[in-house]
Amino acid sequence: MAKSHEMEHPVNAFGWAARDTTGILSPFNFSRRATGDLDVQFKILYCGICHSDLHFVKNAWGFTQYPIVPGHEMVGVVTEVGNKVEKVKVGDKVGVGCLVGSCRECDSCTEDLENYCSKLIITYCGKDVDGTTTYGGYSDIMVANEHFVVRWPENFPLDAGAPLLCAGITTYSPLKHYGLDKPGLHIGVVGLGGLGHVAVKFAKVFGSKVTVISTSANKKEEAIEKLGADSFLVSGNEEEMHGAAGTLDGIIDTVSAVHPLAPLISLLKTDGKLIMVGAPENPLEVPVFPLLTGRKVVAGSSIGGLKETQEMIDFAAKHNILPDVEIIPIDYVNTAMERLLKSDVKYRFVIDIGKTLRQNN
Ligand code: NAP
Ligand code: ZN
Repeated sequence: MAKSHEMEHPVNAFGWAARDTTGILSPFNFSRRATGDLDVQFKILYCGICHSDLHFVKNAWGFTQYPIVPGHEMVGVVTEVGNKVEKVKVGDKVGVGCLVGSCRECDSCTEDLENYCSKLIITYCGKDVDGTTTYGGYSDIMVANEHFVVRWPENFPLDAGAPLLCAGITTYSPLKHYGLDKPGLHIGVVGLGGLGHVAVKFAKVFGSKVTVISTSANKKEEAIEKLGADSFLVSGNEEEMHGAAGTLDGIIDTVSAVHPLAPLISLLKTDGKLIMVGAPENPLEVPVFPLLTGRKVVAGSSIGGLKETQEMIDFAAKHNILPDVEIIPIDYVNTAMERLLKSDVKYRFVIDIGKTLRQNN
């Protein structure tokens, strides 16, 4: 008989889990493995809430296994390291993002693209090498192989910085990979949420002119005055959208729901690139003619490898790029999920795990 979640491993752990497609989270006892030779154990202090957590707890993509402890933007302080660990020591600040394992041998892995390994082990709702389920950062402690642990830069805030582990790398990586990080380019960011607002910040530091394309007219003032965007288009306003046709070199599309691509493609210049990072649960329609007539590209990107994630965190610390966050206690998590669904957050919820997660929650 399979062992219970509490008995699977020797180390007691506690978090909040969803048990079914309602996605409602509640306290959950489980266990973590003992710290292996190459493992790092850390006390989780903060964990961001990514829209993927929401897709997952509701089984929107169809492969959720319950119970699920979400959270792949976790940061904390190292409490124990294995004999062979060289990267960090007890007391260091660290983070874990969306992946905790990969084969380390395939072409993707050897090119530092563990995120594209076919044997990728995701941080929660994944199958670990020993066949047990992985659990995420809405919990008190974490154990991960040092390769998948990111060193936290000195004096870089843990709370506001946590979302960079997913929202940060997911936007930084395609901007770099698709050559959209060159100064003077005009970049569009679609959807001003967790990913979108970080994309704006990176693109500005790269020296781009940035246009936000949003369904929410009420985000305009802040996008321009606070986030530094140069202009703002309301996607439902046809006149505004037509006026901006053919102006963008590239677009990062972070939208979490099904939405029309044709109006976005029309914003691109010849050779422009529309990069999808949002992951709606149903397919989107791609109109082909506007691609042909402008030699335009529609492509995708998923998080980033560990080397690039470390590079991104160090870059963010150097340039003081920090997500705008709303810090919440763990018992607010279900309300936060409801608000996230309504795009009612500026711009990322971060759970204060260290101060609010208790066994008796
Ligand atoms: P989020 O904070 O909820 O932001 C998504 C934004 O999309 C919203 O703020 C909203 O912006 C816009 N939006 C929402 N519903 C819309 C609709 N029906 N039509 C048009 N626009 C809509 O979510 P997030 O955490 O940034 O994640 C965004 C998406 O990326 C999710 O699908 C998530 O699963 C995915 N994701 C992918 C990766 C990857 O590796 N590729 C990594 C992380 C997350 P406005 O109010 O400005 O319109
Ligand atoms: Zn995420």
